Amino acid sequence: MNVRFSALAALFVLLPAAGLTQQQNTVDLIFENDRTTARSAGAFRHDGLLYISLNDLCEGFGLRSYESTDSRKLEIKRGNARLKVSAENPFVVLTDQTERRSVYQLPVNVIHAAGTYFVPLELFVPLFERISGRSSSYQPATNAILVEGSTPSFEVDIPTILFEPKVNGLVIRVKASRPLRDFESWLRQDGWLYVTIAEARADTQAINRLKTDGMIRRIVAIQTPTSVQLTFKLSGKIAASEILPDDHSDDILISIRRPGEEDKILLERKRQEIRKGLEEQRDRWKLDVIVIDPGHGGNDPGTTGLNRTREKDITLKIGLKLGALLEKEMKDVKVVYTRKTDRFVELDRRGQIANENNGKLFISIHCNALRQKPSSVRGFEVYLLRPGKTQDAIDIAERENAVIELEEGYRERYQELTEENFILVTMAQSAYLKSSEVFADILQHELGDHLPIPNRGIRQAGFYVLVGAAMPKVLVETAYLSNREDERFLRSDTGQEKIARALFNAIERYKEEYEKLLEEGREIGVR
Ligand SMILES: [Zn+2]
Repeated sequence: MNVRFSALAALFVLLPAAGLTQQQNTVDLIFENDRTTARSAGAFRHDGLLYISLNDLCEGFGLRSYESTDSRKLEIKRGNARLKVSAENPFVVLTDQTERRSVYQLPVNVIHAAGTYFVPLELFVPLFERISGRSSSYQPATNAILVEGSTPSFEVDIPTILFEPKVNGLVIRVKASRPLRDFESWLRQDGWLYVTIAEARADTQAINRLKTDGMIRRIVAIQTPTSVQLTFKLSGKIAASEILPDDHSDDILISIRRPGEEDKILLERKRQEIRKGLEEQRDRWKLDVIVIDPGHGGNDPGTTGLNRTREKDITLKIGLKLGALLEKEMKDVKVVYTRKTDRFVELDRRGQIANENNGKLFISIHCNALRQKPSSVRGFEVYLLRPGKTQDAIDIAERENAVIELEEGYRERYQELTEENFILVTMAQSAYLKSSEVFADILQHELGDHLPIPNRGIRQAGFYVLVGAAMPKVLVETAYLSNREDERFLRSDTGQEKIARALFNAIERYKEEYEKLLEEGREIGVR
């Protein structure tokens, strides 16, 4: 039997999307009594340690795990025994079958990424034995965990589905062997009915083999690590569907009604509700808050130019000019500044400000400089958040990140941005990467077309200031303070105005494209 595993799938899907090529591993689980059965768990190497996905391990051992997404904890249960880990935390809490509780400290933190908890494999095996109740050992030579006994089977909550025809429709009975509380269904107008049942496991093979006739044309059951997805293709016109728990058992019932006269009114009401819902959703996605982040400030001057020009002063002036343009010419947009005056703002605080204000686009404004002054190197660069690829990009990121050493308790607040950490950060943010790329591209053209500054292109580097903001975001190094011409341009009111105008134009074009897409989404959504 081949089992699809969450972390592994997530890593393979997300890493290429984020443009990263970090080598990914899996560790096989081999059960001594039936060695041909293949199970495996997602793994990767970090700081010389092999980390394994605890979620996958549970799957492989047929154990149930429960995640508390609020407190970012994962709990594994077997009988009375429980094992609990927390994200970015080294402590493991183990409660044995006699309810005795002990706390263990790993020498490293548990890593939480892509919805999965990763633990250091070799250190964790003895702890995991306590919860799995099976003696296990990791064998580096074959990269496998050897486990005593036979391959465990999964407990199934949903063994099958029954169909109960009614005069005006059909009831789909999802048989359940324990109470399942979190479920929902969605009926599409083209006759597809989608049902999601969270924290459940179904015998998908049995369900996919069920014979269909009458109102049901097709059934597809899919097991994901966190839920069961049931998809039904219904035939003929459907007025409404409803999902509800059965009063007399743990079963879940989905009633499907054919349209009658009174249903036409209901149907129209439903349509209006959907339309309203989509409009609300569209409003939520609207590009209505733009966050301007003038780099540096206060006791952090940033780089300095040939004529003692301070980066923090230039970035603030450009930021304020851009904000004024937006406030004047883009009335439906709220402008949020991470700073409006010459004051110090921590790098992680800047992302927080953006998130607290529901920002939809984050622009961090900076000026570049080389250590050697004067220099002939000049031009602007647009940066996306990714691990630094070129030495130049790494140098710039190091310089822009250096400010954290002025911040209190920075060692606790910032994890080192190693390549591995980056994979985790960018995995969580890959949703914004595409939009960030689109904006960076528009911005590069606007700046290139309207400024007397050479275009040094779109680059990628690891800027802390971009890590925390959960929205499309770029950092722009407007020009070089270490170059005479660039510095003159940056110091001048016209220069600052031109840069602000180019930034404004880019936002305007991005907003148009973005809202056109939203509009098209609405057209598709409602008929
Ligand atoms: Zn800077």
